[in-house]
Amino acid sequence: MDWWRRADPMDETTYDVVIVGAGPTGLLLAGDLAAAGVRVAVLEKRRDESNLTRAFGVHARTLEQFDARGLADRLVDTGKTLGRLRLFGTVSVSLASLPTRFPFLLVTPQYQVERLLLERAVAGGVDLIRGARVVKIESGQDEVQLTVDRDGDIHTFTGRYVVGADGRHSTVRDQLGLDFPGHSVLRSLILADVQFTESPPEVLTVLGNQHGFCLIVPFGDGWYRVMARNPDWEPPDSTPVTLEEIATLVRRIAGTDYGMHSPRWMSRFHSDERQATAYRQGRVLLAGDAAHVHSPAGGMGMNTGLQDAANLGWKLAAVLHGRAGDSLLDTYEAERRPVGRMVLRTSGGLIRAVILRSSLARAARNGIFRAGIAVRPLGDQLRMRLSGIGVRYPASRGAHPLVGQRAPDLAAQDGSRLYTALRGGGFVLVDPDPSGPGYDHLVTLRPVEPTTPMLVRPDGYVAWAGSTGPDLDRALSAWGAAQRAS
Ligand SMILES: Cc1cc2nc3c(=O)[nH]c(=O)nc-3n(C[C@H](O)[C@H](O)[C@H](O)COP(=O)(O)OP(=O)(O)OC[C@H]3O[C@@H](n4cnc5c(N)ncnc54)[C@H](O)[C@@H]3O)c2cc1C
Repeated sequence: MDWWRRADPMDETTYDVVIVGAGPTGLLLAGDLAAAGVRVAVLEKRRDESNLTRAFGVHARTLEQFDARGLADRLVDTGKTLGRLRLFGTVSVSLASLPTRFPFLLVTPQYQVERLLLERAVAGGVDLIRGARVVKIESGQDEVQLTVDRDGDIHTFTGRYVVGADGRHSTVRDQLGLDFPGHSVLRSLILADVQFTESPPEVLTVLGNQHGFCLIVPFGDGWYRVMARNPDWEPPDSTPVTLEEIATLVRRIAGTDYGMHSPRWMSRFHSDERQATAYRQGRVLLAGDAAHVHSPAGGMGMNTGLQDAANLGWKLAAVLHGRAGDSLLDTYEAERRPVGRMVLRTSGGLIRAVILRSSLARAARNGIFRAGIAVRPLGDQLRMRLSGIGVRYPASRGAHPLVGQRAPDLAAQDGSRLYTALRGGGFVLVDPDPSGPGYDHLVTLRPVEPTTPMLVRPDGYVAWAGSTGPDLDRALSAWGAAQRAS
């Protein structure tokens, strides 16, 4: 029996939360819910772990989320770090000045991310049921029923809440009748995992000319991912790809194919820019690619899905444990949908710049971007956006300016730091005053540097800041965080 499968996967079918899809988004969410004591099942139509990969870049904010779960160092060990992000031609943006422990892009295949998250979820008690294709969803007043096709047998699962993390062709989204408006940005891209006899010159090689563009990135185990576009040949996705086709295109763009050989996987796909019209309908929520898709430029898709999951998990747990009202779940859409929109705009802008064909337009683009990035505020804005470090959530009127901002990884007097304190999965009170009040179920961090007292959410954003006292008590109760110790 596979270690991840229960003896009889169908002997329990009622859960607090049922997640559809065991991609990165569903697996992070499942692990967070299980760690918070929520009964959770993940239904996944694939029978086996996929050995293919799509994403290969993990940005700084995602690494901070992994750090808050004790997983960052293990993930960093699986890949290579890049301190500079090559956008196109000779234009690049440095990540070195990012205010984080992880001032780089980690290049590692998506399957490494999924492997760590799967291991954590299963160890935490998540029921992962493979070969289970969700075909229908019916929402009731207090629960949601899912009809599941497993090898032709039909089963019914029930969840108090359901999360559709089932990717771009989401059945959950379709079942809710939610639109996914948008359009295609690239009609045809080729992807392949290959080996080379000569190493390409840089860790991330991005080249373009009138014949198209190509990106080459190593997985670190001898295999490389090649992504290439030929603007003069845009057949349907179903048209087979040959090694010769990719090698010829790379030769035309790079002047060499670096001795490309032994493809283990080749595919053709098109790239859309779309966002669901809502992320929540009653007891059903959408996250990850089910809620938003965009071009691979900037490498933000998986990262954005993982941040969706980090935002949603603790909120679902607080509502299910009765610590917060159901309206807390509305803040998920209010916070994450604008971020999804920003990611679509950023990645859309980048891909349109990448695919310019005429040499004049490319030279103008390079000049404009180089000058823009050299100007500190613009360069900062781009690196903060791409890395996810710059994401902040809306705050209510009159709130302290820190509210909604990402909390930095503050050092504590006892030698710990904020993101290790967050590993408990709860809120953390940062309070420099050692005589401050104690609270049940709340970790208190005494910072090394003088800092405004603040309450940090489990996902590392500031929920409240100001002077401790009744104002803090109100915030704790509104967020379902903790009670003053009696
Ligand atoms: C070429 C390429 C390069 C990319 N590069 C990057 C990058 O560098 N960085 C980055 O952040 N992102 C990148 N992305 C995007 C990234 O791969 C996706 O955003 C990410 O996989 C989304 O994760 P997810 O968990 O939301 O969905 P998915 O990974 O699509 O997972 C959805 C899961 O749901 C399952 N499922 C679907 N329907 C059902 C059903 N009815 N019942 C049960 N199970 C179901 C599927 O089998 C799948 O396992 C790239 C994408 C591509 C195509």
